[in-house]
Amino acid sequence: MRITIAKGDGIGPEIMDATLHILQAAGADLQIDEIEVGERVYLGGNSAGISKESWDVIRRNKVFLKAPITTPQGGGYKSLNVTTRKFLGLYANVRPCKSLHPFVQTKHPIMDVVIVRENEEDLYAGIEHQQTDEVVQCLKLISRPGCEKIIRYAFEYAKQQNRKKVTCFTKDNIMKQSDGLFHKVFDEIAIEYPAIENEHWIIDIGAAKLADTPEAFDVIVMPNLYGDVLSDVAAQITGSVGLAGSSNIGEECAMFEAIHGSAPRRAGQNLANPSGLLQGAILMLIHIGQTEVAEKIQNAWLKTLEDGIHTYDIFKEGMSQEQVGTREFAEAVVARLGQMPRTLQSVSYDASYQMNLPKYQRKPAKSKSLEGVDLFVHWAGEDPNELAEHVRQLNHHGVELSMITNRGIKVWPEGFKETFCTDHWRCRFKSTNKEITKASIVALLMRAEELEIDVVKTENLYAFDGTSAYSLGQGQ
Ligand code: NAD
Repeated sequence: MRITIAKGDGIGPEIMDATLHILQAAGADLQIDEIEVGERVYLGGNSAGISKESWDVIRRNKVFLKAPITTPQGGGYKSLNVTTRKFLGLYANVRPCKSLHPFVQTKHPIMDVVIVRENEEDLYAGIEHQQTDEVVQCLKLISRPGCEKIIRYAFEYAKQQNRKKVTCFTKDNIMKQSDGLFHKVFDEIAIEYPAIENEHWIIDIGAAKLADTPEAFDVIVMPNLYGDVLSDVAAQITGSVGLAGSSNIGEECAMFEAIHGSAPRRAGQNLANPSGLLQGAILMLIHIGQTEVAEKIQNAWLKTLEDGIHTYDIFKEGMSQEQVGTREFAEAVVARLGQMPRTLQSVSYDASYQMNLPKYQRKPAKSKSLEGVDLFVHWAGEDPNELAEHVRQLNHHGVELSMITNRGIKVWPEGFKETFCTDHWRCRFKSTNKEITKASIVALLMRAEELEIDVVKTENLYAFDGTSAYSLGQGQ
């Protein structure tokens, strides 16, 4: 099997060498193409941190084992991780977080949670604009294909790994459209897996429960931002964020890595713990079907930790036997290949179940009707009634001002004088009949221009199959 590797920055080269040494000693069948990505490429003038030739290698081999890289601060450098995930369509980020009690100190001795994080959309679409002096916005995009793919992946993963439950975290009590879609698709897909328990938690109490009682969870699927935050929390409360690996899975390609960064202060000193990247490499071996080698390495790694051979980050007087460097830790794992842990549970991977991940099928289009438009207006006044008087001049041919909100809170009609207002106002115009045309929106905008109303953006108000599909104002 031909794979691509990148040694990355900071502690990257050391932990990659240690990992490759273990893979080779365990008999992994790998031919390796190495590419250069990261700091040197960025500072050489390539703001993406990767050359075209390197992309070609990654796309040809399809499997990529990547050490952490340093994203230089400022200067318009884009995170290569985010770019790679999106370019290659790596929609599923899978992070197993398991306690290694009592060998790695943790408040949660019984914890074995897998976070399945949506990896391509949500606020990570990175679409941001400043619209007024006081307000910037970031668009949260949630798509049906995005939801279907990640949620099906979570259930298929649970089925393959013989896990019992899939939990969904969203904030759909507040974001009824976007998180609402994620939750709705979760309910739709869960029905197809009657043998797997399913549940939904509102993210705030779900996160609190995860941090407090992680043993209550098994597989948890969630949108991108929540998954980003909570997978670090989950990894950290197993005892160390430095012990976790992750996979990024797409329809064609996959990337495997440690979840920690390049820890530049620890670089070049033979100090870093290679376990996170090694865990990423084990996920890779399972992905490419080399499960026996994966098992052999994982069991030897567990035995090494049990024997108290620890790098500085997990070394603990009384529990640890010997503090070792990166290279010595790798040698200790190699020396234990073929051995089983005694206290920790040994692993046996069965990937014989081929996940059923069909390509997304576009649904038949719904009938879409235009019910109105939100005009977002930059206005530095204070009294919403004054603004209402002004923008009501735009009322025409069955399109009328129905509401003004400020940061989503209704301030007209019948607002509260206590409500704090910025210079960013949403003026909702709705049709008094059933439907309006785009031409009436254009007419509205032209009239706004004449009246010197500073419209900074518009958002069309649609109904799909007769159901209005936009949020109400808070308090409406
Ligand atoms: P970091 O994870 O690199 O390091 C934080 C601290 O954790 C370190 O100071 C070190 O004490 C400890 N640590 C991390 N990994 C360790 C290991 N393997 N062994 C022992 N100790 C370890 O986070 P940071 O300092 O915030 O970020 C440093 C750089 O890494 C930044 O440029 C950031 O952009 C980048 N980064 C890259 C990735 C990636 O490539 N996937 C992920 C996160 C951060």
